Amino acid sequence: MTRAVTILGATGSIGQNTIDLIARDAGAYRVVALTGAGNVAQLAADAIRLRAEVAVTADPARYADLKAALAGSGVAAAAGSDALTEAASRPADWVMSAIVGSAGLAPGLAALEQGATLALANKESLVCAGALVLATAKAHGGRLLPVDSEHSAVFQALVGEDMGAVERVIITASGGAFRDWPVEALEHATLAEASSHPNWDMGQRITIDSASMFNKALELIETREYFGVRPDQIETIIHPESLIHAIVGFNDGALMAHVGPPDMRHAIGYALHWPERRRLPVARLDLAQVASLTFRAPDPARYPALRLAREVMDRGGLSGAVFNAAKERALDAFIAGRIRFTDMAAVVEEVLTRLQGESGLVDAAMTLDNVMQTDHLARVRADQVMAERAG
Ligand code: NDP
Ligand code: MG
Repeated sequence: MTRAVTILGATGSIGQNTIDLIARDAGAYRVVALTGAGNVAQLAADAIRLRAEVAVTADPARYADLKAALAGSGVAAAAGSDALTEAASRPADWVMSAIVGSAGLAPGLAALEQGATLALANKESLVCAGALVLATAKAHGGRLLPVDSEHSAVFQALVGEDMGAVERVIITASGGAFRDWPVEALEHATLAEASSHPNWDMGQRITIDSASMFNKALELIETREYFGVRPDQIETIIHPESLIHAIVGFNDGALMAHVGPPDMRHAIGYALHWPERRRLPVARLDLAQVASLTFRAPDPARYPALRLAREVMDRGGLSGAVFNAAKERALDAFIAGRIRFTDMAAVVEEVLTRLQGESGLVDAAMTLDNVMQTDHLARVRADQVMAERAG
């Protein structure tokens, strides 16, 4: 029987790895929708090759290009955020959520509402609206499977275990591009330097977030939301080899570590074939060659984002949406060369301070509308904070 699949964010790093796995066994799948944003040439090529029903670009200005690229192929073209949500609502068995940023939230919810299994790479959904995402999955009988490598690792370490026996969850971090830089040098870090990851090949935004550890900060919140553990049960450790993806500590002192090569096709494939394991085209580790696995505690001065994530977890409510949106905006500004690397955390902290103080804002009910309004407001505040700092 073929499985109907949709890939949201098909043109990105996770999307392309997902397509790689699906294309190897194309007869087993029927592709419903593929979505992208700026890269319509890739989107159209994949949609034609995989015979998708529809290809959607998030960017309405790219509609004509997409339509032209799909002419005569039988693949329908659509554009804009409503079209993204419509594509995610088309009946499918399995949907990959791999749009980057909070733009992935609404389409992911739409996929859950139609009862699909949602493979969640888009960690921002859980950071902004964890309770809403989990409740939507529950209400519609949809299942949420983690794709972030650390969370897939925790998920796998928990198979057959009782959550009551879990003492702690240890999320590993590579430490990113600047783990060995003097802290004083960070303010002069360039975009090119921040965009190169020591171990993983990923999209540019998450690579920069790895250098600042905003990515790990998001993952701490993601861990709490997904697994329901308390913040004080979640630890992070720098593990420069990136071979252990996460470790679960149990009440008898045992640590169950998940070890594997840094290849996202493992976590994607696990979510694709779950609850089975199937053969995957990833490298096999030669442990004698690896020789040693090392660990060190993260330096709080180098990675202020980790402290901010703890504050967000303590504050709760919609503060995750504020945190993520302010981070996205600060990251946009760093990429555009408007602020320095170290300014990102300072901007996010200032936006959190301002918005958490605004009456009722982060305590509003967690609905999609409230989350997106909060997201919008945090972006506006981030722009104001950056303008003030520049002026
Ligand atoms: P990429 O930047 O490589 O790809 C992002 C995808 O989202 C592309 O398809 C892009 O389209 C699309 N997109 C960009 N902006 C929008 C928008 N406003 N609306 C709709 N679609 C948009 O990102 P990654 O694949 O690296 O990451 C995707 C998600 O997975 C992120 O949430 C990331 O944190 C998470 N993740 C990624 C990992 C990795 O190894 N890459 C590991 C763990 C988690 P286009 O390219 O056509 O412009
Ligand atoms: Mg990760």
